Amino acid sequence: MFVVRLPDARSEDTQRVEALTSKHGTLIRSVRLGESAFVLFRSEESLVTLSDSLAPLPKGGTLLQVDTPYVLSSREILPGRTRLTLNEDVVIGGEEFVVMAGPCTVETETQVATIAKSVGDSGARILRGGAFKPRTSPFSFQGRGLEGLDILSHVGRHAGLLQVSEAMCEEEVGDVAAAVDILQVGMRNGLNYSLLEAIGRHPDRPTVLLKRGIGSTLEEFLAAADYILAGGNPNVILCLRGTVDFSKHSRSALNVADIPALRQMTHLPIVVDPSHAAGHRDLVPAMSAASLVAGADGLLIEVHHEPDMAWVDGPQSLTLQGFAHLMNRLRALAPAIGRWVAPGKARETTVLHPMEELSLEKAPREEGNQANGNESHEELQA
Ligand code: PEP
Ligand code: MN
Repeated sequence: MFVVRLPDARSEDTQRVEALTSKHGTLIRSVRLGESAFVLFRSEESLVTLSDSLAPLPKGGTLLQVDTPYVLSSREILPGRTRLTLNEDVVIGGEEFVVMAGPCTVETETQVATIAKSVGDSGARILRGGAFKPRTSPFSFQGRGLEGLDILSHVGRHAGLLQVSEAMCEEEVGDVAAAVDILQVGMRNGLNYSLLEAIGRHPDRPTVLLKRGIGSTLEEFLAAADYILAGGNPNVILCLRGTVDFSKHSRSALNVADIPALRQMTHLPIVVDPSHAAGHRDLVPAMSAASLVAGADGLLIEVHHEPDMAWVDGPQSLTLQGFAHLMNRLRALAPAIGRWVAPGKARETTVLHPMEELSLEKAPREEGNQANGNESHEELQA
């Protein structure tokens, strides 16, 4: 496939290039992402011949050949790194290592407010909380829906935190985009192309946290991101959360090598969800630290003030104190690799706990890989 990149997305330039490329091949689609436009087309001609045929391109225009199933998310067409500015304070993909934290699911206003206050004091920037919950069993709690979204949105705002929540289908996209700052696409919808297209063409251009499908290759993951980008929405954050696994010790397999590998392949920001990857809270600190050092741009972590009472995913949720200690450790590690973590407000977060100690917050485990209460894909086998 060939792409003409135009740094200034003025429509007359795009139309001129579209007409030109149609003469030398088949026009696939033009996409405007931010200030730039991309004209995608196929041609039997070689790159060298096409460079002559299309010359002169509009000022600043570049012809590129891209032979991967993903194009718009690739570093070949945007060699730098995309920084997504969420508000005047929070940028994802810059020097700050941005931490999103909160409960798996919104239960009550008091629950969300307690967790929001504490994770905010510990340096989290974004409050997570599911309102529409993808559950393995149709008979499990399915989330508080619009009511839950409303709680997350106003509690988050009150605590000075941005918010992230999942939309599971096209009908939920508008409500989630209107209520919160980041729309999450979960692991189960990682390859749901009609949903991804609907999000891509949504006029609000919501910032999207796209999770990797449980069995997706990195190429499939980026091609899924392209479905959103192709609709003209450049605001995509990739989220690694583990893939299918043979281990009895973690819920899914988080390959740390995927972080630098993805960074080579894409310009999009990359965050890691160590909670759903681990399935057990004692594994979360080490996976978080490894993700930071390996080059992730941030984390999505499940935290609960009473994990044993959590409605969903208690065993993998950090306690408030466990989260504070982890943030303190990440804050100390970040400068060693040229990054920083937002300062915490609570005084106790100045204590530095050894990594080993951070990993001692054990939740009870059952035999095998069945994290009790977790919304585990392994439950499908049970
Ligand atoms: C979640 O983050 O709430 C969630 C359900 O995660 P995943 O889609 O990664 O399983
Ligand atoms: Mn969860």
